[in-house]
Amino acid sequence: MAGGTVTIDQLVHWLSRFDALMAENRSYLTELDSAIGDADHGSNMARGMTAVMEKIGATPSTAVDELFKQVGMTLVTSVGGASGPLYGTFFLRFGSTAGPVAELDAGALAASLRAGLGGILARGKAELGDKTMFDAMSPAVDALDAEIAAGADIATATAGAAAAAVAGRDATVPLVARKGRASYLGDRSAGHLDPGATSTAFLFQALAEAVA
Ligand code: ADP
Ligand code: MG
Repeated sequence: MAGGTVTIDQLVHWLSRFDALMAENRSYLTELDSAIGDADHGSNMARGMTAVMEKIGATPSTAVDELFKQVGMTLVTSVGGASGPLYGTFFLRFGSTAGPVAELDAGALAASLRAGLGGILARGKAELGDKTMFDAMSPAVDALDAEIAAGADIATATAGAAAAAVAGRDATVPLVARKGRASYLGDRSAGHLDPGATSTAFLFQALAEAVA
């Protein structure tokens, strides 16, 4: 059956799981970025999510739009790399689409994630196959929509999204980067996982764990 809701507590749990995954995988993400970028993706994401958890504090906002406005603004202002404004815009659009509510049903979750994806597109202008975080996020959001349209509950739909993000991440290996710093390498960017697609797979893993 379709249905169920995601509460604001679960959304805060999503953020705290993502923070933990960024801290645990800081060296790994930086290693990926050292192959095709400037070796800072792990530190950017770990620093950004630490700042987010500090900002939202012990008593987070009880309105989804307000909570994610804090998250987005913190990432935009505390992360110097490309990923800060991109993830920041994702969370800002997620929140503004969700609105001043305390929980999201499946349709509202799907619409908010779709809007967040649109924010990354508007800001970064990457297309599918450009070897960016968009290559993991776009199939994840598509999978979530398809699951929900087929009547899946939120736990099943987010698990499907997480699996699609992993597949999208892995599919970046043979690609030649056409956006961001990795594009300066031209053909030499092929043969490596994209760091941003890898952090995005963790973002959807964290969401699936938070609502399970
Ligand atoms: P920087 O590239 O400024 O050092 P990071 O290392 O933190 O920033 O992030 C790099 C990641 O950002 C890339 O692996 C890629 O996934 C993503 N990225 C870069 N440019 C774009 C873009 N225009 N659109 C979408 N994602 C992008
Ligand atoms: Mg970098």
